Amino acid sequence: MPNYQDIIEAIASELNNVKEKGTVASYIPELSKIDPNKFGIHLVDSQMNHYSAGDADELFSIQSISKVLSLSKCFALVGDSIWERVDVEPSGDPFNHLSLLEFENGIPRNPLINAGAIVVADILVSNLENPKDEFLYFIRQITNDDSITYNEKVAESEKNTGFKNIAAANLLKSYGNLENDVDEVLDFYFHQCSIEMSCKQLANAFYMFMNHGKCQRGKTHLNINQVKRINALMLTCGFYDEAGEFAFEVGLPGKSGVGGGIAAVFPDKFSVVTWSPGLNQKGNSKLGMQALEKLTTKTSQSIF
Ligand code: GLU
Repeated sequence: MPNYQDIIEAIASELNNVKEKGTVASYIPELSKIDPNKFGIHLVDSQMNHYSAGDADELFSIQSISKVLSLSKCFALVGDSIWERVDVEPSGDPFNHLSLLEFENGIPRNPLINAGAIVVADILVSNLENPKDEFLYFIRQITNDDSITYNEKVAESEKNTGFKNIAAANLLKSYGNLENDVDEVLDFYFHQCSIEMSCKQLANAFYMFMNHGKCQRGKTHLNINQVKRINALMLTCGFYDEAGEFAFEVGLPGKSGVGGGIAAVFPDKFSVVTWSPGLNQKGNSKLGMQALEKLTTKTSQSIF
């Protein structure tokens, strides 16, 4: 087995010298306040050994990484009927792209773009009695950590400026692919994106995607086929219009968020999370992508 601790420490120190760290997202005003020099990486292997470097315990806004978790909760709740409302094809478009081409009769291309995640949020709002409480409870369960919570300031900040998401939700409603009130669904969606977690907590949450649906507490949340599908979606749709590049450079299923986090998994081997708030032009963490490329190269461990 590779010496993960030595490898991730070497990666953190190599990246420390990189001057061009990318640009912190500013379209959600609260996110623009984050220090661009932060960098953390945390890896948990299949035996639940933990390896950490940098700011791996610091909380950050998980943003779109939450889409994998909301999809998981939804898939577990309603099963394959979810695919009647959202497709599974990569879009090749930016995360907030509004083009009608992304909608086939109101069906978003996949659940990891905003429009698809808003449909998933709608299904959760329809099927949960207290959607925000129950979703948070789910995340706390899979992470085995009751301290995880929403950041109300970030949710409010996005609510005040999320015009494209408001437009997308209205478009979905006009196609009949939103059952609930636009405001109610968006309130859930903005909250799920505002959840704050550390690299370590997220690596613990993503453990179940490398462990056939079973979390670290031994509880099965998704069956093997569901995990296969979610990992396939991460690989093909997890990085906006840079999913091909991520597969090419890194070679793992994963999901990024505009908070600068990236969560990735190697089934049966490890789950790993990086955080560096500076984004590249496609909206993915610049140093995070470099760190994961180095990890799979140095360990010779990628799914390819
Ligand atoms: N809350 C963000 C939005 O919907 C998430 C974007 C992301 O992380 O890709 O715009």
